[in-house]
Amino acid sequence: MKRTDIAVIGAGPAGVGCAVQLKMLGFNPVVFERNRVGGLLHEASLLGNSFSGRAEKAGALISALKMKIRKFGIKLEKNRITDISYGARGFLLEKEHGGKTRCGILVIATGTYPENGGITAVPARENIVFYGIGKLRRVSGMSIAVIGGGDAAFDHSIVLGKNNKVSIFVRDKISASDHLVKEVLENRNISIFRGFCFKEMVKNGRGICLVFRGGDGLKECRADFLVLAVGRKPELSFIGPEFRRKMPYLKKNGLIFLAGDVKNRGFRMASIAWADGIKAAMEIAAAESGRDSR
Ligand SMILES: Cc1cc2nc3c(=O)[nH]c(=O)nc-3n(C[C@H](O)[C@H](O)[C@H](O)COP(=O)(O)OP(=O)(O)OC[C@H]3O[C@@H](n4cnc5c(N)ncnc54)[C@H](O)[C@@H]3O)c2cc1C
Repeated sequence: MKRTDIAVIGAGPAGVGCAVQLKMLGFNPVVFERNRVGGLLHEASLLGNSFSGRAEKAGALISALKMKIRKFGIKLEKNRITDISYGARGFLLEKEHGGKTRCGILVIATGTYPENGGITAVPARENIVFYGIGKLRRVSGMSIAVIGGGDAAFDHSIVLGKNNKVSIFVRDKISASDHLVKEVLENRNISIFRGFCFKEMVKNGRGICLVFRGGDGLKECRADFLVLAVGRKPELSFIGPEFRRKMPYLKKNGLIFLAGDVKNRGFRMASIAWADGIKAAMEIAAAESGRDSR
């Protein structure tokens, strides 16, 4: 195999970590990214569990990833991979903006996509219901409901609570990290409602009225926006059933590697994703040297 024959899908911490390590090991990977370098870090604010021990701004980590791509001369192609197949000539990747790419080794570092947590009554109204805070970062003076009890719900609430009134609705227990919970409790703009289960939502003027079951009965909450942070699933939606069936064989033979949140279930952290990418690169190098010596 040529040492240039590796494709990495995704330029979040896992994909970039993998590409950097591959470069250091003498390979020349191509990274495909459908959106922005940094992946889910664009939704985070402060990372409290960084290697340095200090809380780090997610923006600083994104800048570090971009800098590494430049420094190591990593080839980055802005394109969504829409399908993958595998045959006698290796992997064939189909690209959204036209064309196909072949590679001999594939790293899937595509992260996750948000779930709706069974809240099916939510209409697909992009200007009211959000699965992250991207477009809401600049709003102020609004009332915002956040559903979820984990790190994402609390992190989003801290960012939004700087300039808005935020109500967090938690169905069961709060699972967010202590430093996030502490910051939320210290912010007068943010209220937490525990034991509230979403029932329904109706349109109310320019905003919405949310109805929850909990406490003594039903509680209504009027909000301009709703942010859902109720869980995420591995982003493997672009992989068809035929390729899925081949994946165990390809994994066993050191031809395909999954890195980061896409495979880490309950252990979705930027530092784990980064390390996972490095590990995948080292496994590729080990598999390659095994093939070379045969
Ligand atoms: C609100 C919030 C707070 C967080 N706080 C922390 C924290 O304090 N500490 C911490 O360690 N972690 C935190 N995280 C988690 C951290 O952001 C993730 O664990 C990390 O970004 C995962 O990296 P990844 O590379 O595996 O996936 P991602 O960052 O999701 O990157 C995947 C990339 O793949 C791309 N992609 C997907 N499909 C395709 C395709 N078909 N073709 C091309 N590209 C594709 C995506 O566009 C994306 O850029 C937080 C996350 C959120 C949302």
